[in-house]
Amino acid sequence: MVQFSAMARSISFSSHPILKPFITHPIENIIFTTFQKKKFPLKFSHQEIHLQEPKPSSNSKPFGRESNINLALETLEAMGRNETPAEPIRVSELMQFTVDSKSLPAGDRIYEYVMRFSSSYDVSVFNELIDMYFKLGDYRRAGRVFEQMVCKNIDSWNTMIKGLSENGQENEAIQLFAKLVKEGNNNTTNSNISPNEETFLSVLKACEHLGDSEKGKSYFESMSKDYGITPSLDHYTSYVNLQRKTNRRVVSEKDRAKNSDKSLAYEKLRCLSDEAKKAGYVADTRYVLHDIDEEAKERALMYHSERLAIAYGLIRTTPGTTLRIIKNLRICGDCHNFIKILSKFEEREFIVRDNKRFHHFKDGICSCRDFW
Ligand code: ZN
Ligand code: ZN
Repeated sequence: MVQFSAMARSISFSSHPILKPFITHPIENIIFTTFQKKKFPLKFSHQEIHLQEPKPSSNSKPFGRESNINLALETLEAMGRNETPAEPIRVSELMQFTVDSKSLPAGDRIYEYVMRFSSSYDVSVFNELIDMYFKLGDYRRAGRVFEQMVCKNIDSWNTMIKGLSENGQENEAIQLFAKLVKEGNNNTTNSNISPNEETFLSVLKACEHLGDSEKGKSYFESMSKDYGITPSLDHYTSYVNLQRKTNRRVVSEKDRAKNSDKSLAYEKLRCLSDEAKKAGYVADTRYVLHDIDEEAKERALMYHSERLAIAYGLIRTTPGTTLRIIKNLRICGDCHNFIKILSKFEEREFIVRDNKRFHHFKDGICSCRDFW
């Protein structure tokens, strides 16, 4: 029988979001009692363990937190002994907790567990394992998980490339990217896997760290040329930083032109907004959550990434070219309306893929018929 009181604050076992699902599982005769005090007496069968809150200013190990994670892991492993794999969401939470606690041994225990029940978990859990190891600062262990994965998706590759790039393994990140491109071209394996906007951002950042402007340039160009991805402001910023870093000695005309591209995009966007207003666009400031005045709200909407990407695309491509924009989040209603109006007078097709669907904007209409 399990008993607990939910009086304690963040550190308590009973109110902890990770432990909650475990402690309702009748594995062992556990009695939790927690109090809102500095010390939490924890009754574990007939033993009593005292836990202390971690002292923020102290250099000593946060004993309380480690005990929390150990207990959660023991519970997880006890479920394993009963051949009951924990729900993926619980394993994810535990990984997050492990990252917060910066405990590599705990990470290894989760890894062992997931490997043991590997058939119960899908690719996303393995991707999270990779991410966990990177966040714990161990890129070799992250690489081991990646190697062991039978099935990989683009997120697996992205997590790996990003993690390598952020952990000082830029050359390896670039090599892995090359491998991804190769596998994408090879239809017999992993078909449908090809780099996306996130992959390019990581690989551009790797080039930025390495100061390899030649490679950076070729990736930046390949993005739209070979994969139809319109560079976002982040890609563009990374690319400009790379150029700036590597050409410090001479600020060439070319650089100046690149820098002015950014201001040109903003200028273009301002013109587009004026034209759109003439064509009937009224900013719907309901999509801005900040507590600011109406004019500032309008400005905030104006600089949504998809609009900047469109403005940039319009100045960099020849008239009539279809612009494709990929967005990780859902497109907001105001941008949707803005692009519809834009497609009326720009005489181009705009294709925006958000996290839900494709929006094909043409002649003032969107393919989603405003339902999305
Ligand atoms: Zn928007
Ligand atoms: Zn739409």
